[in-house]
Amino acid sequence: MSVTEHKSYPQPVEDTDNTEYLEGWRHGSLLLQQCNSCKEVIFYPRSMCPHCWSDSLAWIKASGRGTVVSYSLIHRPNHPSFTDEVPVILAEIKLEEGTSMLARVLTEHIHTGMNVELADDPESVRKYPLPIFRPS
Ligand SMILES: [Zn+2]
Repeated sequence: MSVTEHKSYPQPVEDTDNTEYLEGWRHGSLLLQQCNSCKEVIFYPRSMCPHCWSDSLAWIKASGRGTVVSYSLIHRPNHPSFTDEVPVILAEIKLEEGTSMLARVLTEHIHTGMNVELADDPESVRKYPLPIFRPS
């Protein structure tokens, strides 16, 4: 399947909290927020630190490396654009920066504890509207 056939992927809704995050991925980077007050790194993008309630947050570039905590194989797509790709693997990934995120992992075999990295090659960045991972 060519890249252009994936234009029908559901697109994320951009808002004032996630614009930087989405723009980062358009350039192949995973951007996370770090609290300027307590220094915790957080995901998902938001306007306030969930640890200390500070609204002073900075964007940092993540290493893109993490470990699979848990995962699910999705056999019944919730959108027609995924029909040819099932099963889709959605995983909770513990990032090196300490926070966790949910993301797709491009692989046939997955297990908890597996090391993954951001799939930041140009084709993946063009194809997928959100950061995506692969085994490292
Ligand atoms: Zn904080």
